[in-house]
Amino acid sequence: MRRALVRKLREKGIANEPVLNAIGKIPRHWFFDEIFVDHAYQDKAFPIAEGQTISQPYTVAFQTNLLDVKPGKKILEIGTGSGYQACVLLECGADLVTIEYKKNLSLLAQKMLKYMGYSPRFVIGDGSLGYDKLTPYDGIIVTAGAPTVPTALIEQLKVGGHLVIPVGDSKSQKMLRLTKMSDGTITKEQFSNFSFVPLLGEDGWKK
Ligand code: SAM
Repeated sequence: MRRALVRKLREKGIANEPVLNAIGKIPRHWFFDEIFVDHAYQDKAFPIAEGQTISQPYTVAFQTNLLDVKPGKKILEIGTGSGYQACVLLECGADLVTIEYKKNLSLLAQKMLKYMGYSPRFVIGDGSLGYDKLTPYDGIIVTAGAPTVPTALIEQLKVGGHLVIPVGDSKSQKMLRLTKMSDGTITKEQFSNFSFVPLLGEDGWKK
């Protein structure tokens, strides 16, 4: 089933081998309640606890590809959620810091990733402000839809680093990749539309 999912992602245009290998390796069904495991290898988002979602595999692959993760690069993920995206980033070699607003979700993800043998740094807090204790980051990925680009995330990025973030209204967001240039300017690339749960917090949609 995992191989079929990887085939589907290739058909949809994902060509990043480390990302595809990660998706081919990680048991996504472990993130599902037993009665829903049939949904685990379909290319769709699925509800998890606290009204949140485990992202669609295509979305995970698309964002991870844009982030251009290389082994040893320090990556900040905003929105740990189930922890599945975190596993993909870790399999691609990221030195990962992952922050989650909802304590219960973070604790569940911490338990699962420990069981799977992964050990990123978990933070519980408001990722719309980034995480300034470990700055700067080679890359920042936001896995919830933001109304605007939070300024702290730009500040916390290294020169040459990418910020991958969906920005838009509550129904639809455009995927953006912002890159910090050596002269301090920011370049912006726009990709297709996605639909994420809202980025909460001070520089998100508030509560
Ligand atoms: N990456 C996740 C996965 O693989 O399961 C997908 C997570 S879900 C689409 C988005 C997550 O962002 C939710 O768990 C939500 O609680 C979290 N979130 C929303 N606003 C946040 C914020 N300001 N800081 C940190 N996490 C936030």
